[in-house]
Amino acid sequence: MYSQLSFWHDSLPGSIDQRPALPGDRDCDVAIIGAGFTGLWAAYHLARIDPTLRIIVLERDVAGFGASGRNGGWALGEYGVSPMDIARASSPGLAVRQMRALFDAVDDIGRVAAAEGIDCHFAKGGSISWARNRAQLTRLTAGVSARHAVGLTTEDISMLGPDEAWAVGNATDILGARFMAHVAAVHPARLVRGLADVVERLGVTVHEGTAALSTSKGAVLTKHGTVTAEIVVRATEGYTRDLAGQRRAVAPFYSLMVATEPLAPDVLDEIGLAARPTFADGRNMTIYGQRTADGRLAFGGRGAPYLFGSRIDPAVERASPVHDRIIKTLHELFPVLAGAEITHRWGGVLGIPRDWFPSVVLDRNTGLAHAGGYAGDGVAAAKLAGHTLAELITGTHSERTDLPWVGHESRRWAPEPFRWLGINSGLWAARSGDRAEARTGRPSRRVELLHRLLH
Ligand SMILES: Cc1cc2nc3c(=O)[nH]c(=O)nc-3n(C[C@H](O)[C@H](O)[C@H](O)COP(=O)(O)OP(=O)(O)OC[C@H]3O[C@@H](n4cnc5c(N)ncnc54)[C@H](O)[C@@H]3O)c2cc1C
Repeated sequence: MYSQLSFWHDSLPGSIDQRPALPGDRDCDVAIIGAGFTGLWAAYHLARIDPTLRIIVLERDVAGFGASGRNGGWALGEYGVSPMDIARASSPGLAVRQMRALFDAVDDIGRVAAAEGIDCHFAKGGSISWARNRAQLTRLTAGVSARHAVGLTTEDISMLGPDEAWAVGNATDILGARFMAHVAAVHPARLVRGLADVVERLGVTVHEGTAALSTSKGAVLTKHGTVTAEIVVRATEGYTRDLAGQRRAVAPFYSLMVATEPLAPDVLDEIGLAARPTFADGRNMTIYGQRTADGRLAFGGRGAPYLFGSRIDPAVERASPVHDRIIKTLHELFPVLAGAEITHRWGGVLGIPRDWFPSVVLDRNTGLAHAGGYAGDGVAAAKLAGHTLAELITGTHSERTDLPWVGHESRRWAPEPFRWLGINSGLWAARSGDRAEARTGRPSRRVELLHRLLH
């Protein structure tokens, strides 16, 4: 059943069997709710820092059920907010430190995967974002210059001319491209499922099929029993709305994906992307793709409407008109794919905080911790967040524990119907702005509106 969740789940070696549920009341040092990247990286680093800690992970479905198992597999050196936004909220120096910590997290994923024997198809080929009209070129160029002004270098991020951009991958209408060096492609389900096995080997207990109903100082309530713990970590991202009192903490946004069949060698030759850089273009409504280790393209995009009341509907994930738009966009990028079969359609929810700033929080007074709000850029950020949470919980000072996102709290989302209106107006502005930009070649004013509405 779980193999149907995504191409990634379907291409895991072996079956996905649920681990035993919580067998009754238990006591431990750290209880973690959610076995995605955030929860499992926190467990991993806690166990590595202090092997005597008693750690219990509670997962409602199976490890990797959520966004961590289903995503585009970009281990990405960017946050949902730009380094310029981080600099405005702190300082340029701190923004650069925050970025460099994230860049290190990308490499760290590769290092830990190799050391722990997780075969997650890690390939650090960077990321290319093609400018396919003049408005995209203007925006990407300005974004790169602004990042350099904050303190990043041309080795971190740079613009490529049309020929260099085309040499990386042969998409249509290329005017230039932005290249980000600190990005790796991974098979996300292999990584998250492998991580669950590794933490178990390190002595962490993982209970699946166990939904947390509420948290309070020192306790997690489930229908199977109560877990008491000195520290309780919430790592539930887009699903946070299910926990008592958390309905407006994080809004679930859909991102949907498709995968092609394994492509013939001549088709792959035509497309390029041989070093497996992740790819996108410079439009406002995010799209993202990777060439997988088995020679497919896995490709996704945002744009599915936000559902009233933060509803999550598995039917949207399996078949939405947005999947058709994503396939159309893929064919526009690479017309050579016209005859290739689309073998998988899926999707999932990512978690967006009201101000789009991700955060890592430990409140020693209540014993409650949480991390997330990655706004769709959580693969590497969750590694850094999990590591940082583990250091905060164990009182280990490091270059991570005073980064700007530590202790940051976003305000709550507006109640309905304002949440629904605001978010869906923003999605409309992004999509219609892209259409206007393709027509006029000038950056769209509607996108300004989008930023005002969503930030
Ligand atoms: C389609 C898609 C594509 C994406 N592409 C990228 C990408 O390419 N690069 C990138 O950086 N980011 C991407 N993201 C975002 C990224 O996947 C997430 O930011 C990241 O995986 C979040 O990890 P997490 O552990 O915080 O949350 P999740 O992986 O969602 O894990 C939360 C876990 O908590 C469990 N849970 C929820 N509620 C409860 C409860 N009450 N009790 C017990 N367990 C509970 C869930 O079952 C789930 O397993 C994408 C997301 C989606 C949906």
